[in-house]
Amino acid sequence: MDLKGKHALVTGGGTGIGLAIARALADHGAQVTITGRRMEVLQEVAGPGLHPAVMDVTDEAAIRDVTAAAVEARGPVQICVANAGIAEGRKLHKTSSDFWRKIMATNLDGCFYTVRESLQSMLTTDWGRVIAVSSIAGLRGSAGAGAYAASKHGVIGMMRSFAEDFLGQPYTFNSICPGYVDTPIVSRNTDAISARAGVSEAEARDMMVNLNRHKRLIAPEEVAAAALWLCNPLCESVNGTEVPLAGGQV
Ligand code: NDP
Repeated sequence: MDLKGKHALVTGGGTGIGLAIARALADHGAQVTITGRRMEVLQEVAGPGLHPAVMDVTDEAAIRDVTAAAVEARGPVQICVANAGIAEGRKLHKTSSDFWRKIMATNLDGCFYTVRESLQSMLTTDWGRVIAVSSIAGLRGSAGAGAYAASKHGVIGMMRSFAEDFLGQPYTFNSICPGYVDTPIVSRNTDAISARAGVSEAEARDMMVNLNRHKRLIAPEEVAAAALWLCNPLCESVNGTEVPLAGGQV
């Protein structure tokens, strides 16, 4: 697949899943704007085809300015990957309103602002792909994940509906729903999961591994392969839906 001449914007593109997707797109010729809150992290991975920009997805004005600058430098955004997210868990009785809003601001509002802004330039072109990184938690509930699961269910609803908004036009909107992927988010949350479940960190990691019927964490590159597939010109009929990628979890 040749993505030469295509400008992609990947939020959370400096680490984990976002970085794997950004690299896969760049390997196929795209010019990729990678964003996150920490320039030092983005600069470490920047290189041919990967262009760093600081952009906090909870900041609507920053998204407007940074996207405009990226469009100015690299042309209309034709691949938008709304990947930035935070994963923290609390059971319902420990979920404060502030905690709820923090998760929603990043995972749900951030996805909306990012996609809406990228779409402005995408609509001036005759081809576009919008990919949101949701989660298997967007397709089902799990203990201690009320806010996170609600935000990821919301992302799926958004993509399904945006696809309806543009039916018959050359743009697609889909979500990818991974199970546990071997990234910093999982390492950071192993201790929280162990505390919630009352088990050691090693046991918490085993629990995550065992949820996957292949008995392993998923590699970020596997998620990138799904994103790349959605960018294939022959994938236009995959629209308004989800790609579950969770080692057989349903
Ligand atoms: P990472 O922690 O490596 O990635 C999260 C990225 O989001 C970071 O690059 C981070 O950059 C960025 N980010 C977080 N908050 C903001 C913000 N307010 N503004 C801009 N960027 C932000 O973990 P993953 O790669 O695993 O996570 C990527 C996505 O995949 C998330 O949406 C997550 O929910 C989803 N996911 C992950 C799974 C897993 O098991 N790993 C499973 C299912 C879904 P910085 O901190 O520099 O801003």
